[in-house]
Amino acid sequence: MEQYLFTLGGKIRCIRCNAMSKRTKTQCSAPAIKGKTKCRTHGGKSTGPKTNYGKVRCAQVNTVHGWETRQGRAVRGEAMKRLRQLEELGHFLGFISGQKIPGRKPA
Ligand SMILES: [Zn+2]
Repeated sequence: MEQYLFTLGGKIRCIRCNAMSKRTKTQCSAPAIKGKTKCRTHGGKSTGPKTNYGKVRCAQVNTVHGWETRQGRAVRGEAMKRLRQLEELGHFLGFISGQKIPGRKPA
């Protein structure tokens, strides 16, 4: 995929639109809008959703699965902290032997 486009006999170098044609499977040959990666016909002029409804709808569409969230990571981190504490207690009292859970220890 070409990142740059040379115009005016190679004197001007600009960012090339990185949209791919569904029909011909080739890269768009238009220059991208300044500061963007797409040309005006492939969404370069888009400024994103404006209304709350549009923002919610965009978030729903762009959420692939929703399994990995900040809240989910925090809950999992707390669960792992409790599990490590139980493991430490088990090792200390002699209930558990062998290797401990690998990885970084909680602060
Ligand atoms: Zn384009």
